[in-house]
Amino acid sequence: MIDEYHCNSQDIICCIGPCIKQCHFEVSKDVKDLFENEFKEMDLSEIIKNKNDSKYVIDTTKINENMMKQMGLKKENIIDSEICTVCNQEYMHSYRAQKEKAGRNTAILGMRK
Ligand SMILES: [Zn+2]
Repeated sequence: MIDEYHCNSQDIICCIGPCIKQCHFEVSKDVKDLFENEFKEMDLSEIIKNKNDSKYVIDTTKINENMMKQMGLKKENIIDSEICTVCNQEYMHSYRAQKEKAGRNTAILGMRK
């Protein structure tokens, strides 16, 4: 939006829709290492947590929030639905929970001047 539409980052409102949350985004060390490498500039102490000896949970919402703040979005303009698609799979689709039987979630959004 900043590059293509020359939006001021201070004017952008971001709504984070339902997605897999840290409660269910469990990964092995190989994936955890990819995230640590990709976001090595970020404080990941609250984002990647050790679940047990071989599993980790990652807060991808927090990663997105941090990236948006780095781009200049106001904290109060970042609105998280706080809905986990796995926790709410009876109402929405989750590939992680439903595998090949999962449908697709959609959203409609718009811009105004
Ligand atoms: Zn969950």
